[in-house]
Amino acid sequence: MRLILLGPPGAGKGTQAQRLVDKHGIVQLSTGDMLRAAVGAGTPVGLKARDIMARGDLVPDEVVVGIVSDRIDQPDARNGFILDGFPRTVPQAEALDRMLAAKGPALDGVIEIRMDEKALLDRIATRIAQMEARGEKVRPDDNPEALKTRLHAYRVQTAPLLDYYGKKGLLRSVDGMASIDAVAQAIDRALGVKMPAGGG
Ligand code: AMP
Repeated sequence: MRLILLGPPGAGKGTQAQRLVDKHGIVQLSTGDMLRAAVGAGTPVGLKARDIMARGDLVPDEVVVGIVSDRIDQPDARNGFILDGFPRTVPQAEALDRMLAAKGPALDGVIEIRMDEKALLDRIATRIAQMEARGEKVRPDDNPEALKTRLHAYRVQTAPLLDYYGKKGLLRSVDGMASIDAVAQAIDRALGVKMPAGGG
C-alpha cells in the first residue's frame, strides 16, 4: 500500500501514520523527521534546512525530492509506505509521480485530514504547553511566528494538491476535528478496510 497523508500542521498526521504503520506493516516516511535528523547530524542537507525549518518555511523542492527518492529505494519501503509531510508542493507531487512511474506501483490513495484553523492553533498551543510541563524539548518551529508561516505555507503551497489528487480520483477527505479513534476509523473507511467485529 502506498499512501499520502495530507493536512495542516497539528492535524495529527504523525499519529494516524503510526497507526497505519502498525496495521498494514508499511513504513512511515516523514520528511520532517528526516530533515530534523539531518539537522541534528549536521549533514550538508541539515545545514541547508536548519534556518528555513526554524522559520516555518518550506525547504527547496529538490532537497526533499532527493531525500524521498533515496528513501523509497530502501528495502523496508518495498512493502509499501505512508508519506507524511510529502509532497507539500505541486512540483513535489509531479516529481513523486515520475518516481513511482519509474520505480513500481502507483499510489493507492491520498487522505486529507481536514481541520478548522482556530482549533488547530488551540491544539498546537496545548501540545506545546504539555511538552513544556513534561520538561521535553519543544520543536524550534513550534512557536507562534513560525506556526503562522507554516499555516500560510500549507494554504498557499500545499492546499493546491487537494485539487491535483482530486482530479486523479485519489483524494479522500476525513474530518480531523474528531477524536483520534474516530479519525482512524474514518481513514479505514476511506481506504475500504473492513472494521473488526464490534470495533465500530
Ligand atoms: P513537519 O514535521 O512535517 O511539520 O515538517 C517540519 C518542517 O520541515 C516544515 O515546516 C518544512 O520546513 C520542512 N519540510 C518537511 N517536509 C517538507 C517538504 N515535503 N517540503 C518542504 N519542506 C518540508
